[in-house]
Amino acid sequence: MAYATINPYNNEAVKEYAYTTEAELQAALATGHALYKKNRKQPVAERAKILHNVAAKLREHSAELARACTIDMGKLLRESEGEVELVAIIADWFADHGEEILKPETIDTIATGTAEIHHSATGIVMMVEPWNFPYYQIMRVFAPNFIVGNPMILKHAANTPTSAQMFADVVAEAGAPEGSLTNLFLSYDKVTEAIEDPRVQGVALTGSERGGTAVAEAAGKNLKKNTMELGGMDPFIVLDDANMDDVIDIAWRARLYNTGQVCTSSKRFIVMDKVYDQFVEGLKEKFSKVVPGDPLDPKTSLAPMNREKAKDKLQKQVDDAIAAGAKVVYGNEPIDLPGQFFMPTILTDIDKDNPAYSEEMFGPVAAVYKVHSEEEAIELANDNPYGLGGIVFAGDADHGAEVAAQIETGMVFVNNFMVTLPELPFGGVKLSGYGREMSHIGEMAFVNEQLIVKTDKPNLDNVAGGLVATDPE
Ligand code: NAP
Repeated sequence: MAYATINPYNNEAVKEYAYTTEAELQAALATGHALYKKNRKQPVAERAKILHNVAAKLREHSAELARACTIDMGKLLRESEGEVELVAIIADWFADHGEEILKPETIDTIATGTAEIHHSATGIVMMVEPWNFPYYQIMRVFAPNFIVGNPMILKHAANTPTSAQMFADVVAEAGAPEGSLTNLFLSYDKVTEAIEDPRVQGVALTGSERGGTAVAEAAGKNLKKNTMELGGMDPFIVLDDANMDDVIDIAWRARLYNTGQVCTSSKRFIVMDKVYDQFVEGLKEKFSKVVPGDPLDPKTSLAPMNREKAKDKLQKQVDDAIAAGAKVVYGNEPIDLPGQFFMPTILTDIDKDNPAYSEEMFGPVAAVYKVHSEEEAIELANDNPYGLGGIVFAGDADHGAEVAAQIETGMVFVNNFMVTLPELPFGGVKLSGYGREMSHIGEMAFVNEQLIVKTDKPNLDNVAGGLVATDPE
């Protein structure tokens, strides 16, 4: 698909972008590689200063960035503004803590001398990102790798090219050297070509299994380390002693925030029988209150989906779910507006054979299940091809945490909305991918953990297992 901004609120074609040429890709690789060599000699503190400046520039341009994001992919303007502030927070955090995280670690060893692990840059990171949080997805990779000294080439989603270019422009304006983040409008073939290039040493993708499988295959074939942040079917468990006002207040947000297009949206509500009816009624009421409209208008509370094909796919999934026996307890009616609007919908009675049981629905559709025991709730949460996040609501937070520990996902929040912050690792297991972004773990994704053992004089006495040439008799 060509790179283009098409406003999902009114379907207006705003701007098209030409594909990157071979010469442009080669220039980006050469510039990135030269910068990698330079970065290896540069003190980390110098990059930290630039990263603080990136945060400041993001804040300075917040209004334009937020507007561009909303026009690219449709989210509510206030959510775009929140996203710009979040990315500035992430940049500041890595600027403040990144150097400390990279400090050499001393190892206690019986080897002669002192042993240390140094953490250094490895080369260009190729990042492939999705449209749902156009700035945040870039920043999760950019901030830690900028501190490490890895230059980056960005291939953003075909429908968010304007946000991608604006982010790269802000990074340049903040004083980051050329090659730090090069935004390219790459075809899929050119992404593979970049991954094959020896100057590229890491590959980070956030997206679906479709994109993830293709990019991980190219990375695997070329023995490039990679991280995969993929889809989810996050459980939201409601135990029977949970505070139901809190539950309802969080549940609708957990499904409708960003029009339900979040990898960690709650996609499987698992509710104890005692509070099930109350839950469904409460969710229905909240869903019925949202107001669809122009996402730039502060009165709007339901934004369009990001593009026509996403809405069509979701409608087909809902139709298939109903054909397979699911009941619609709310929604699934057309919204009389020209943009890509989808009415918030609640489905129940989804059995194991229903495709909705195992497919991620990336939009405002809640699947609600009734369970009769905590064990059943945990089993249903884990009978899931994905393993990204989850929420547990319990009367006692400690007990909620015990339940959380039994859920096979990368992140679980007890009695709260899932938050993402730079100090918290982000990522999943199973079909949700592997590796973590952000936090001290994310900063280590593409570093060379180089062992350096030093001594003043050789000593062969303590070479474990005698793995050394012996003296000739
Ligand atoms: P997608 O189709 O996989 O697209 C993601 C990125 O991959 C886009 O830049 C896309 O480019 C690119 N891509 C797709 N196929 C490719 C190929 N064969 N070669 C090279 N690049 C390729 O994902 P999506 O459906 O738009 O995004 C939503 C998905 O992302 C959901 O499943 C969601 O759960 C997941 N997600 C996960 C996380 C997380 O952190 N775990 C966060 C957000 C979203 P084009 O746009 O040009 O196709």
